[in-house]
Amino acid sequence: MYQLFDYQQKLVDGARSALAQGNKGVLIVSPPGSGKSVVIAEIARLTTEKGRQVLFFVHRKELVNQIKDSFVAQGVNLNNCTIMTVGKVANRLGYLPKPNLIIVDESQHSRAKTYLKIFKFYSDVPRLGFTGSPWRLSGKGFKDIYSAMIEGPNVKWLIKNHKLAPFTMYGYRLGDDSQLKLGSNGDYTNKSLDAFSQTIIRGDIIKSWKRFANGRKTIVYCHSVQFAKEVANAFRRANINAEEADSKTPEKERDRIMSDFKTGKIKVLCNCDLISEGFNVPDCSCVILLRPTESLVVYLQQSMRCMRYQPDKDAIIIDQVGNFTRFGLPDADREWTLEDRIKHPQREGGSAGPAIKTCPQCFGVILASLHDCPLCGYSFETEFRKIAQDRRAELEKINLNAKELRERKKKEQELLLRDPSTFTSLKEFAIYGKAMGHKPGWAWHRAKAKGLIR
Ligand SMILES: [Zn+2]
Repeated sequence: MYQLFDYQQKLVDGARSALAQGNKGVLIVSPPGSGKSVVIAEIARLTTEKGRQVLFFVHRKELVNQIKDSFVAQGVNLNNCTIMTVGKVANRLGYLPKPNLIIVDESQHSRAKTYLKIFKFYSDVPRLGFTGSPWRLSGKGFKDIYSAMIEGPNVKWLIKNHKLAPFTMYGYRLGDDSQLKLGSNGDYTNKSLDAFSQTIIRGDIIKSWKRFANGRKTIVYCHSVQFAKEVANAFRRANINAEEADSKTPEKERDRIMSDFKTGKIKVLCNCDLISEGFNVPDCSCVILLRPTESLVVYLQQSMRCMRYQPDKDAIIIDQVGNFTRFGLPDADREWTLEDRIKHPQREGGSAGPAIKTCPQCFGVILASLHDCPLCGYSFETEFRKIAQDRRAELEKINLNAKELRERKKKEQELLLRDPSTFTSLKEFAIYGKAMGHKPGWAWHRAKAKGLIR
């Protein structure tokens, strides 16, 4: 049986008291990787223990199997449980044992027709929905299904309290964004993603992986099987053990790949549809995002996949396709609501969190409010002055200048390690004096004293 963490127990208690207060539907929000299934299993255990019936459903078969495992581990009385995919439940209405409680996982799907049909059929049965992020592309809220929302701790808290691994994010925009076209569901069409992915130089993917995450157990998220295969090939050409797996991979082969990934024989696992909610490889410490998306849910599920907690683990997220520019950092404070989101659904405050920027030197994604990059020490102040001088300067240009700046910075750092008595020019004294916080006249006097100024 799982020992629940305090915050998980709070969710259990909160859900129960919200139902006791007469709420017909209660939505429970707990970030990806925070152990939602433990909370679900505990609620199911408490319910079935009293001989009451639980109906649990979710949209994917793998998740059905996973929750069954959690229920068994938690000692849930399975005789009092119906656990199925949402499709199966909808086809068996009237034949299933009447539930006393309905539990739905990944509830952001729960406005879909099939879900509503089930809720309508059991309109007098209380329901609990669970989600990592109550957010839908359409902007529609959840008010018609849930009347109360209970929020667990946010990502920042979970990192601080060693429930999720801390992360560093690097951001690029490798592909040509002008290829991307929104479809009727609000996210990019597969066809446009095909065209987009052709503009990505495969070698760049490998290069940044080697730079930031060399040797790490890595999951790569692509938009299609074909592209995932191409990326795996590119890794293999660079002598890195990589494989592709998808939902159509024969089961035996898939099991082999998964087990090789778990043991570390495969370093890089490329996929498009396989590793979503619930996939658990705790020592995977790197994720590469190659699928641009307008869905905050997809973004959080994919980017946070490498943040499962392990002692001393840190995670690296390499976003190659600019999703961070739409949604900010995974640990941004987001205000969830049951209400509809109005205006432009993807750009609402609350979705993206505080403003962010990319460090032109190390490509780290950091808060826009920072003057220095916490990852490499790069000073934005210096750069800001330059931009002010040349208003037309754009981020692209900063990136081009990064190498030059890095070299200059390196020279300056070398200078700081030297004894000033070895300096041979006023310029060296000036750089040193500035870095040390001396007054402007200091360099001039020292240089004069050394006979460098006549
Ligand atoms: Zn940096």
